[in-house]
This record gives sequence, structure tokens and C-alpha cells, in this order.
Amino acid sequence: MKVKNQLLQLKPYLPGKSVDAVKKEYGLEKITKLASNENPFGTSEKAKMAIFNCVDSLVSYPDGYSTNVREKVAKHLGVDESQIIFGNGSDEVIQIICRSYLSAGKNTVSAWPTFSQYRHNAIIEGAEVREVPLQNGKHDLEGMLASVDNDTSVVWVCNPNNPSGTYVNNQELVSFLDKIPSHVLVVIDEAYFEYVTAEDYPETIKLLKNYRNLIILRTFSKAYGLAALRIGYGVASSQLIKEIEPAREPFNNNKLAQAAAAAAMEDQEFILDCKRKNKEGLEQYYAFCSKHNLSYYKSEGNFILIDFNRQGDEVFQYLLERGYIVRSGNALGFPTAIRITIGTQEQNEGIISTLTEMLEENNVVC
Ligand SMILES: *Cc1c(COP(=O)(O)O)cnc(C)c1O
Repeated sequence: MKVKNQLLQLKPYLPGKSVDAVKKEYGLEKITKLASNENPFGTSEKAKMAIFNCVDSLVSYPDGYSTNVREKVAKHLGVDESQIIFGNGSDEVIQIICRSYLSAGKNTVSAWPTFSQYRHNAIIEGAEVREVPLQNGKHDLEGMLASVDNDTSVVWVCNPNNPSGTYVNNQELVSFLDKIPSHVLVVIDEAYFEYVTAEDYPETIKLLKNYRNLIILRTFSKAYGLAALRIGYGVASSQLIKEIEPAREPFNNNKLAQAAAAAAMEDQEFILDCKRKNKEGLEQYYAFCSKHNLSYYKSEGNFILIDFNRQGDEVFQYLLERGYIVRSGNALGFPTAIRITIGTQEQNEGIISTLTEMLEENNVVC
């Protein structure tokens, strides 16, 4: 037996250490995990209640068309229900896109560093991956355009970009879309859409009318606080969705996820509240960075990438031993940085004071 060649060059996704494992290893009582951009304010109560109402119907398969949540999302976005595809997390929509458009002989273009799943799934399909380095943390759209050729099938724009937090504005995106050949699918991953406050952030749903080669990805895992349930979606033209639907598994969205997501859509107040608190949290980190002369990218997401001018793994370890789990930049393409998920005000204060101690210890040594 020989596994496909492509798989030999990939590693399985390595989740961070679990909270329980860290507690045990370092003898800590309280652990704060700010590593995966989950919502520190939890989940809408409405979504939780919706799950209770499902427990008596676990025996039957879920609705394979996700009808209820589909109606809610379509209405909220002002699109037709046929313009949406649901996935087991937007990760699965990424997989469906790769299965649908990529194969040996094709290539795909993305930024680097960016969200790792574009590359991962493209490689499994045997496609060539062309990665164009970020410039000042931002997508180099001109560079990406220059990498497109006749064999390019998919281009990825992560907006805002994970892990840098930067965004492509409306004018930049539109001029990019105007130049991209129509045989290329442009995927705009808006996993952090709900957190964005920049006024010139593109309203991509409106762009769908003019650009048929566009798909927008969103998720319930981040601001909606439903990461455990795995539900996300893609929005495109009805025709495009119809073409990729056969690559979707029949019951890919479980019943609890559908019920919770539908109810969560009805609680936009919760989302707005989280957005406001996230913005305040970002300001706490900006103030910390300016005070200590640390460079960072202004973020439109619920995370911040901060450069500490020393190995990210070291900073990661310092925080870990003191009860904070973050992501080391070593694993994200920014070896001297760490990525921190914005927490509650109190969590942010805790992490900032721990980092301040770290910086001060260092000063004493020097
Ligand atoms: C978290 C994340 C996703 C995946 O979200 P799921 O819906 O949980 O699969 C997709 N894209 C980006 C950029 C992310 O950060």
C-alpha cells in the first residue's frame, strides 16, 4: 500500500496543548487560552437554548439542506437561498472548493503567511501552490496577480488576514477583481467579518452581482462563539454553488450546529456587543505596544500579532508557564512574534502585565 505522494509532504494539524495538559504539566490552577481566536465572551444564550430543543431528535439524520439556518443567513445577507453552501466549519468549504477546482496540472495562488488550510487542501489535490509574501503584513495583490497564469484555478484572499490581522480595502479589492481573468475563482475568506470596523472594508456580498468568479467564506466559529459545533458557509452566484454542491457530503452539518447557528443569527445584539468589546481589547494591546516600542499590525480581527524581537517560542513558553496559552509566531511564519486572541478586559490585563514583567526581566539582564 502506498499513500498518495502529496500526503508525504504534509503533517497532520497539530492542535495546541489542551488546557488540562498544561494545568498538570505546570501545576497551575487557572489557564487562559487565547490561542485559536475563539470568542472569549462565549456563545449567545439563544443558541444554547436551541440545542436543548434538539436532544429528543438525535435519532434522525439532520436536514441535509440546512434549511432553517439557510433561510436566516440568506435573509440577513440579502441573497437568494441558492447562493449559499454550508460546511462543517468553513474549513470544509475550503476543502470542497479545492476538491472542485484543483488537481495536478493546476495551480493556486495565496499570500504567505496566511491561513494554512488553503495550502494544505490544495496539496492534497495535487495542485501547485504559489505563495506570494505579504508586504508589511498585507496581501501583495499586484504580486499575486503576476503569479496568475492560464493554469491558475483558485486565488485566496484572507480578509482580514490570519495571522497578521491586516485587511484589503474596497478599492484595492475591486481593482484586483477587475484584473483577475474570469477563469480564476477568487475566494475571499471573511472568517473575522463580524469584528471588522474599518470603513473602507469591502462589502463583498454586493460585489457578487458583478463578479461571477467570486466566493465569500464566513463562519460561526469566531464571533458567533460556536467553534465546537463546526459550521461555516460560502456565498457565491447560484450557478457556482450548484456546480460545487456535488462535492459536499450529504449530511455535513449536524442538527445541533444548524439549530444553534439559526438561533445565533437572531441575536445580532450579542455580536455587536462582542465587536465593541473586541475593539476596546485591541486598544489595550495597542497602548501596551506603544509603551514598550513593540511593532505590531493594526488588526481588524479578534487577535493581534506582536513582534517581540526574540523567538516567538520563548515568549510562548514564558506565558505558558504563567497560565496563558497563545500561538507562537514560529508556527505561523512570523518567528519573532506571537499571536494573541483578544480576550476579556481582565484577561487582556493579565496577559499584558505578564508580558510587561517579561520585558522588564529582560532589561535587568541587559
Ligand atoms: C478560523 C478560521 C477559519 C476556519 O473556521 P471554521 O469555520 O471553524 O472551519 C477559516 N479561515 C480563517 C482565516 C480562520 O481564521
